[in-house]
Amino acid sequence: MDFSLTADQEALVSAARTFGRQELAPYYQQREREGAFDRDTLRKMGELGFFGVEMPERYGGLGLDTLTAGLVVEALCADDMNVGYATITTSLLAPILAEHGIPDTVDPWIRRMLAGDAVPAIALTEPGGGSDAGALSLRASRDRETYVLSGEKTSISMATQADVAVVFARTGSPESKAKGVSAFVVPLDLPGIERTDFEDLGSRSVGRGSLFFNDVVLPADHLLGSENRGFAQIMHGFDYSRALLGLLTLAVAKRSLDETWQFITERRAFERPLASYQGVTFPLAEAETQLHASRLLCLQTLWLKDRGLPHTAEAAMCKWWAPKLAFDVVKDCLLVHGHGAYSTELPYEQRLRDLLGLQIGDGTAQIMKLVIARQKAGRAAVGL
Ligand SMILES: Cc1cc2nc3c(=O)[nH]c(=O)nc-3n(C[C@H](O)[C@H](O)[C@H](O)COP(=O)(O)OP(=O)(O)OC[C@H]3O[C@@H](n4cnc5c(N)ncnc54)[C@H](O)[C@@H]3O)c2cc1C
Repeated sequence: MDFSLTADQEALVSAARTFGRQELAPYYQQREREGAFDRDTLRKMGELGFFGVEMPERYGGLGLDTLTAGLVVEALCADDMNVGYATITTSLLAPILAEHGIPDTVDPWIRRMLAGDAVPAIALTEPGGGSDAGALSLRASRDRETYVLSGEKTSISMATQADVAVVFARTGSPESKAKGVSAFVVPLDLPGIERTDFEDLGSRSVGRGSLFFNDVVLPADHLLGSENRGFAQIMHGFDYSRALLGLLTLAVAKRSLDETWQFITERRAFERPLASYQGVTFPLAEAETQLHASRLLCLQTLWLKDRGLPHTAEAAMCKWWAPKLAFDVVKDCLLVHGHGAYSTELPYEQRLRDLLGLQIGDGTAQIMKLVIARQKAGRAAVGL
């Protein structure tokens, strides 16, 4: 196994790290207060090639592998994990649009997403529940050359600021479960679409909210893939975002840990630096070990994906372990910093609040463990 990076990868990752330090870190708290991304910043990220690293150049991508895309997410998100919602959703949706959409309909959206000019969202969860996504009820009824969408999506990241969404809707009978679900690309300025905003614990710049579809008329060429095959054809793309989300959360934890190693060499108690107390250093050493192992798992998952090898179980491992580990590590870093970190003076409280959401978003730990069990023990593991 070769763990070295090429000169091109080094250059791109270094550019992403510098961008994070100079353009993202100083405004991390400000973006939370504003409750939205800054569009100029997104466009700059687009110009630098940070959206759609893995997409072909004809769309404005860099045509590189998904492992490199993961390294870019990691480098950017150490300073503001929330921009990762935009980069990762683009990495998830752009390949899906390119593979399953009608080019005249989807290509302009892909180009705009990669330029940082259009914010995408993925609309799956409904008020009735998110884990059992195949039971969704938002209806898409065919009416000659159009579909009419009616129903509600909730808990949608970037709902308040997205320009376009991939929306999952029921086209089959109510009993058809996952076999009656189709996916559509939906411009969010269509008549009949309304949005509401959530008062979230963290990641407020992401703008999570609900999307209401009040008899929204959508041209039939906005269907992605085949009717009723939305789940089978499109959901496997989520393996990719799970590995990327793992890297995003670990990047925040690693940044916090690096700062904490530095802090304990400077801060003194009982006439000695904190670094001289093993009660302080051993938990940090354990965190360093676990972050390292979890990061290698995420990178290996992308490595498998780049080779077209199965990686569903590995992706689910990334998604349950990394967000939980990252949260626990940042909490320990906060405690080592003492009273000063229990305020907005230092970034740890915001990082903790932001990280917690990703133990739910994109699937909870329980659902990820079900995915792993099903890969290992077959359908018996999910009681079917
Ligand atoms: C920060 C954030 C961002 C999000 N972004 C998006 C987005 O962009 N698009 C989108 O569509 N959705 C999004 N979601 C919604 C998210 O995907 C769902 O919240 C998630 O899938 C869980 O669904 P639920 O909240 O309805 O919980 P439920 O499905 O009601 O589950 C409730 C609890 O029961 C557990 N549970 C359920 N079934 C089982 C089982 N069989 N075995 C064991 N435990 C079980 C779950 O793990 C959970 O703890 C986001 C959520 C958050 C918090």
